[in-house]
Amino acid sequence: MIRFEHVTKRYADGTTAVDDLSFEVAEGELVTLVGPSGCGKTTTMKMVNRLIEPSSGRIFLDGKDISTVDPVQLRRRIGYVIQQVGLFPHKTVLENTATVPHLLGVKRAQARERAAELLDLVGLDPGTYGSRYPEQLSGGQRQRVGVARALAADPPVLLMDEPFGAVDPVVRERLQNEFLALQRKVRKTVLFVTHDIEEAVRLGDRIAVYGEGRIEQFDPPATVLGAPATPYVAEFVGADRGLKRLSVTPIEEGDLEQPPVVHLDDPLPRDLDGRWAVVLDAEDNLHGWISAERAGGARGVVRDHARRMEAWLPVGASLKQAFATMLQHDAGWIAVIDEESAGRFLGVLTPARLHEALRRSIDADAREIAREAVDLETVS
Ligand code: ADP
Ligand code: MG
Repeated sequence: MIRFEHVTKRYADGTTAVDDLSFEVAEGELVTLVGPSGCGKTTTMKMVNRLIEPSSGRIFLDGKDISTVDPVQLRRRIGYVIQQVGLFPHKTVLENTATVPHLLGVKRAQARERAAELLDLVGLDPGTYGSRYPEQLSGGQRQRVGVARALAADPPVLLMDEPFGAVDPVVRERLQNEFLALQRKVRKTVLFVTHDIEEAVRLGDRIAVYGEGRIEQFDPPATVLGAPATPYVAEFVGADRGLKRLSVTPIEEGDLEQPPVVHLDDPLPRDLDGRWAVVLDAEDNLHGWISAERAGGARGVVRDHARRMEAWLPVGASLKQAFATMLQHDAGWIAVIDEESAGRFLGVLTPARLHEALRRSIDADAREIAREAVDLETVS
């Protein structure tokens, strides 16, 4: 979808911001460009919508050399979100979002309707926020409007330059999660610039790690963390990359343990052997848990003594979320459910299983890398 071929950008003062860059981004892929300040990320991005022209090399969008495309036409196909969103202060949120479709000739009423849909999509209720002015929004809300506006003309490509860089860490994480959910729905081809390796890892299908004006490694997050291509990348991703790896390794069904299970209307279990059982409702959905201690000498049925389960996650959530959930609820294990089937209980994740899952993912990667090395040797 986007292809760079030997692209170099030298500014008038002699600074080489981007040096002989070649890479390709597939349709529907989200690629994060990460690196320290001044390494050429913004320059790379602005060359895609021709806010900056390369000194040499070519850039293709959908197979077409963009230097032959009228910049205005080009930009209609590319949404652009930056840190300082630049909303019109005297226009409402709804009007801000409707600006682009309106400029593109969409009728006013229709443009507003579309804008309302988009606000909804980015998690802003149009009824509540549509009539507000930008200054009446929080930083995070403004960024959401920025994303909605960038999507307004339904462009196939999104360029995002540190869009969540100016909001506090808690809001940033929420915006990241929302954006991921949104991206799963809209499947744009996205170039996302950040200087934050955590953000790059969390969002990217692949990550381009920038050194000065060059890409040092271009791989999926797990590979960048598991097998940094150069000492520079290793240092950039940090010594705690094992921890970061937790956030890119999903909980799989095979990781789970199967503890004893009882149902709400069952008699109290007497054979728990000093342990506990998971409590399910009639549909096999997670309800809670019951300890051997509680079930021991009591009367009644399970329902009367079950405790609510707060430490749970859907399968596919990251091991990092699992770890955080255990800590948050001071739980020795967490329940894992299948969100697709309305919450059916699948099993529990224990710290030992979490550790095994992490090992599995590191080993799988090591095998992958070994195989690639063999493939390369066979080719050459
Ligand atoms: P990043 O976005 O990774 O922080 P930039 O692409 O903005 O990096 O900048 C890359 C390099 O190019 C830096 O050394 C920066 O100072 C330089 N640079 C950026 N814009 C200009 C410009 N208009 N003129 C001269 N040098 C520039
Ligand atoms: Mg920049």
